[in-house]
Parts: sequence; structure tokens; C-alpha cells
Amino acid sequence: MKNWIRNILLLGGSISVLIVTPGCTTGLAQQWMQDSPAQAQEALMEATQEPEATPSPETTPWVGSKEMEAVVEQPQGPLSPSGKSYAYYDTVEPTYIDGVLLVNKEYALPSDYGDGADPEAYQALQQLQAGARWAGYSMPMLSGYRSFDYQDELYNDYVMADGRDLANTYSAWPGHSEHQTGLAFDVGRISMQFANTGAGQWLARHAHEYGFIIRYPAGKEDITGYQYEPWHIRYLGVDLATKVYESGLCLEEYLGVA
Ligand SMILES: [Zn+2]
Repeated sequence: MKNWIRNILLLGGSISVLIVTPGCTTGLAQQWMQDSPAQAQEALMEATQEPEATPSPETTPWVGSKEMEAVVEQPQGPLSPSGKSYAYYDTVEPTYIDGVLLVNKEYALPSDYGDGADPEAYQALQQLQAGARWAGYSMPMLSGYRSFDYQDELYNDYVMADGRDLANTYSAWPGHSEHQTGLAFDVGRISMQFANTGAGQWLARHAHEYGFIIRYPAGKEDITGYQYEPWHIRYLGVDLATKVYESGLCLEEYLGVA
């Protein structure tokens, strides 16, 4: 801003000299030529003082505009494992796509979101467990709702044990865990071998009948951001879970955000 004004004023001064000079050697023209540098100097003095009283556009967000959002989302204070500030999670809004709550490495939940398992999802889980039992399998729930703070501790424990790169393949950053939705559960056994057991195969074939999908399928690691987790199920309701199951797509693909 300051340089812009100065350049215009200096240019203006130069132009006034050029305009009166050609073919005009009267005393008036000479007077202009002598006065111009002084006028320019005076104007420059004013210009260099003015910016103090004129806020620049960069620091004057318009309320309700995109500029305002951009300012709010600037990292401030300590950074969380996602690279965003912890303060970001005070104000971030949950993302719904076609009415489906989507949480992944891109879409986050606010830190105060959730206070336990979603009642409808939990009831569906109990029906799934009953169905598994009927088929001869045990399907214990190993993990359900997790708060932001608990996920923060858990993730950092995994980083201590396995390093950040490996932890990122299987543990969510706080604010990015589907467990915070209250709609996700880990069942059966937390082991890759679970996929080869009768219980794991029953879960893969029947979870949608109870409203659940295997949220992190094999072969979709690049899209979901996580390794195959044959034990992690996400509640969507029977209709949608069945559609996603029959599509062969992961949730991001099905919702068109892959
Ligand atoms: Zn899980």
C-alpha cells in the first residue's frame, strides 16, 4: 500500500514535469519544473504518514466472508497431531454429506462432540452380536465411543510405541477418529487374522444387515487413509449400509468425496 501510493505520486510528479516541458520555456513552466520536486516531496511525506491510520485489507476481514473464515482457520497456539492447532477443534463444524456424518483425515469433529455411543447404533450393535451368537460366533465389543482427549492420549501412546508414520496408518488424530461419532465400534478381535476367522468372515458378510459397514476395507487404504481393519464397523442404518456394501465402494467413494 505504502509503495503503491509513493509510486503513483512520484509518477504524477514526473508526468507534470514532462507535460509542461516540451515547447514551453516560459517562466511559468520553469516555475513548475522547480516546484514539482518539492511538491512531490511534500506529497510523499503525507503518503508515508497516512498508512498508519488506514488499515490494510489483509488485516481487515469482512464478517461472514471467505476472508473471515481464512483468518479463523489460521493455526494459532499449540499444534495437534493433525498439524492443525488445537484451537481449530474448538470451532470446526461436523461435516454431513447427503445427511451422513463423515469423519476422516480431512473432515474433523469439534473437540466437545459426542458423549457416548449413539443409542440407535448401540442397539443395532446388540442385534448384530445376537445374530453372530445365533450363527455360533462370539462378537465382543472392544472399543466404542472415544472422546477427543482420550483419542489424543491414545494416538500419542501409539506414536511413542511405533513412531508417527506407522501410527498414522492405524490410529486417528484427535478430532479425526470415527469412534468420536459414537457410530463406530471395534468388534471381534483387533488383529489382521480376524479377517480369516469364521467370526470375521461372518461380520464381513452380514454387518450391513444390521446397519453397519466395514469402514476400512482392504484395497481402499489410499482413499480411507487407514490399513484394512476387519474389526472396525460404522453404523449407517440398514438401507444405506446395504447400498454401500453392494456397491463394493468405501464410504468416501460412495459419498463422492474420494
Ligand atoms: Zn476402530
